[in-house]
Amino acid sequence: MTTNGQLRNFINGEWQRSQADAYLPVTNPATGQAMAEVPLATGADVDVAVGHALTAFPGWRRTPALERVQYFFKFKALLEQHIDELARLVTDECGKTYAESIGELRRGIENVEVACGAPILLQGSMSEDIASGIDELMIRQPVGVVAAITPFNFPGMIPLWFLPYALACGNCMILKPSERVPLTSTRLFELLEQTQLPRGVVQLVHGGKEAVDALLQHPGVKAISFVGSTPVARYVYSQATAHGKRAQCQGGAKNPVVVLPDADIDMTTRIMADSAFGCAGQRCLAASVAITVGEAQKRFGEAMADVALSRKVGYGLEDGVQMGPVITAESRARIERLIGAGQREGAEVLIDGRGKQVSGYEDGHFLFPTILQNVEPHSELAQTEVFGPVLSLMHVETVEDAIALINSGRYGNMACLFTSSGAAARKFRYEVEAGNVGINIGVAAPMAFFPFSGWKESFFGDLHAQGRHGVEFYTQTKVVVERWPSEWSRKF
Ligand code: NAD
Repeated sequence: MTTNGQLRNFINGEWQRSQADAYLPVTNPATGQAMAEVPLATGADVDVAVGHALTAFPGWRRTPALERVQYFFKFKALLEQHIDELARLVTDECGKTYAESIGELRRGIENVEVACGAPILLQGSMSEDIASGIDELMIRQPVGVVAAITPFNFPGMIPLWFLPYALACGNCMILKPSERVPLTSTRLFELLEQTQLPRGVVQLVHGGKEAVDALLQHPGVKAISFVGSTPVARYVYSQATAHGKRAQCQGGAKNPVVVLPDADIDMTTRIMADSAFGCAGQRCLAASVAITVGEAQKRFGEAMADVALSRKVGYGLEDGVQMGPVITAESRARIERLIGAGQREGAEVLIDGRGKQVSGYEDGHFLFPTILQNVEPHSELAQTEVFGPVLSLMHVETVEDAIALINSGRYGNMACLFTSSGAAARKFRYEVEAGNVGINIGVAAPMAFFPFSGWKESFFGDLHAQGRHGVEFYTQTKVVVERWPSEWSRKF
C-alpha cells in the first residue's frame, strides 16, 4: 500500500509518487502509532489526473451502462471478501469500534448495489405527438470529469456515496479523501484496480486544501461532491459554482432529539446512548442536544447518566469496547474547551468525560462520554457543532416549544422525536426544519436508495448524495424534439 511508508496517488491506472514536497503523518488515534505518511498533492498532481480523466471520458461515456455496472458487481464482491480487513483499517486510522466500521462499510456497499441499477436509473422519458407528428424525449448524459472531496469520519462509506454513481452514469471521477484517513481510500482503490476499470476512469489524489483548490479551479472538472464541515462546505460550494461547476456540499450538524413524557424511556436511552456516543460523537447524524418535554426531564436525565457511565471506552479492535477515541489531540482539546465554555455559560456537568485515560493506550486521544444539563440555548456550546461524545440536555414544556427551539438553529441535518403518540409524531415530521427525521430512531441515516438529505447550513446545493439524487447530479438532461414527416419515408 505504501512505498517506504509513503502513500501514492492512483493516476491513469498506476500507483504514482505525488509531486508533493510536503507529507503528513497518519496516526492511529487510539494507540498514537504512526501508520503511514500522506502526500499533500499540488496543483500539478491534480492537473495530470484531470488530463487523464479527460482522455478516458469519451470511451467510458460510450460504454453501455450495462457494461459499466459489471465493474461494480465485481467491486461489490471484492468489498464483501475484504470487509474484515477493511473494517480493521477503518478502526485503526479513524478510531471507531470494529462493529461501527463494519456498519459503515455495509452502508458503503449498499451504495455500490444501488448504483448497479444504473441501466434503469438512467432511463429518460418520451412523449409521442406533443404536436401532430412531433415527438419529444428526455435523455440523461454524463456531465464529464467530476471530483469528490470527503471527510475523516467515514473513510469507508462516504467515498462510496459518490464514486459508484458517478462512474455508473458514465463520468470519470477523481477522489480526494481526507488527509487524516487516507489508508482506507487507498485500499478501496487497490480493490477497484482489481476490477480492471479502464485507465483514467477513476483516480485517487491525496492531499489537503491545495489539491481541493486545484480541483475547484480546474476548467476540466464539471462537478464537485463534498462532505465536511460547514465553513469548508460553504467555501467549496461558492468556489465550485463561481467556476461554473455544479456542486453538492454536505456540511456540519447540531442534531436535536426531543423526548416526550410518553416515550419508552428504556428504549429511548438505549438508542440515545448510541446516537450521542457512537463513533465517539464524530458523526454528522450524532445526537448532540436532547430536549426533554414536561415530565420526561428527570427520568431521561438519570437514565442517560447511567448509560454514559457504563460505556466501555478503548481501542476499537478490542472485545467489548463500545467507544473509541476522537481523531486527534487537537480535536480533543477543542471539545474540552467547548465543555468548559458551556460550564462558564451556566450549564451543569452531569457526567464529565475529561481528563480520563485508557490503560495501555496513554497516547490515545480518548474523551469519555460527557453530559451537560440546563444548557442555555444561545450559549456557544448549544450553537456549535461539538463533533465529540458530548450530549447537551435542554428542557421545554411543550412539543411546540421543542419544534420552535429546533427551527431557530442554523443547522438542519437531522431531528428526532421519541414518543408513543402518532399525532405528536406527525406534527413533528410535518413542521421540523431538518432534512433527515427520525421517529423513535436515534440515527436517521437514509438507506442508499433515498437521498442523504440535509437542510439549512448542513447542505449547500439541491441534489443530495445517494440514489436517484446521485444519478440526477451526475447527469445532464437533454431534451430532443423530433419531426419525421411520413412523406420522407420510402414506401416499403
Ligand atoms: P473538514 O471540513 O475539515 O474536511 C473535509 C474535506 O475538506 C477534507 O478532504 C479536507 O482535506 C478538505 N478541507 C479542509 N479544509 C479545507 C479548506 N480550508 N479548503 C479546502 N478544502 C479543505 O471536515 P472533517 O473534519 O474531515 O469532517 C468532519 C465534518 O464533516 C463535520 O463537520 C461533520 O458534521 C461533517 N460531515 C457531514 C456529513 C453530512 O452528510 N452532512 C457527513 C459526514 C461528516
